[in-house]
Amino acid sequence: MMMPVLFLSHGAPTLPLEPGETGAAWKQLGAQLPRPAAILAVSAHWESHVPTLSRAVQPETIHDFSGFPEELYRLQYPAPGAPQLAETAARLLQQANIPVQLDDRHGLDHGAWVPLSLMFPQADIPVAQLSLQPDRDPAWHLALGRALRPLREQGVLIVGSGAITHNLRAVFRHPPGEAVPPWVTEFRDWIAARIKEGDLDALCDYRALAPHAVQNHPTDEHLLPLFVALGAASGLEDAHHLNRVVTFGTLAMDAWLFDKAN
Ligand code: ZN
Repeated sequence: MMMPVLFLSHGAPTLPLEPGETGAAWKQLGAQLPRPAAILAVSAHWESHVPTLSRAVQPETIHDFSGFPEELYRLQYPAPGAPQLAETAARLLQQANIPVQLDDRHGLDHGAWVPLSLMFPQADIPVAQLSLQPDRDPAWHLALGRALRPLREQGVLIVGSGAITHNLRAVFRHPPGEAVPPWVTEFRDWIAARIKEGDLDALCDYRALAPHAVQNHPTDEHLLPLFVALGAASGLEDAHHLNRVVTFGTLAMDAWLFDKAN
């Protein structure tokens, strides 16, 4: 069976403590999806020059954030690693002439384990992670996703984890209770419209074409996982826009599920 592809906006690391509407949506999603044989997580919080796959047998839970409540640092997501998946994914990238390396130690950063802990709380599905290349453009990340598409036939759920909007300075400045500013909604609506049209060229050129692109993404690492997911999708005819919640005034929590019908 062909697994669908997922992109999630992972929001603040506190989500496991305050799951709210987004946590409920992820939980429901985890219960509705066919059970994956393994998960390949592509998180905005692991960056490297060369695409890198984690081959750790038992990945540690990385608490890669600071200044949050103590109990958050005690949370563990003890899912087994997926060394075989890491090796298969590396081979697929090599076949697409994409340089790749394997890492035996890298654990799961919060972009991976926070959503997975809500979607698959039993932590019994093996997980490998793939790094992003912030010095490369969206088209590069689309190509990564395309090369990895065959994994879906092996029951692998590819999960891109980033953010549809990600201006942390604006998060801290936003007065609580105030409406979501138009520069957030206009950008997210533009992204949604281009996905619905299947316009990958426009999406790849989003920094020039989308309204308020740089304001929403001062740096673009949190949007890059979306491109890996778009590349892994077979087409965008079956794209489902989920969870349109906005947290902290400006962080859009949009999720996208591709190729659900397969
Ligand atoms: Zn993040």
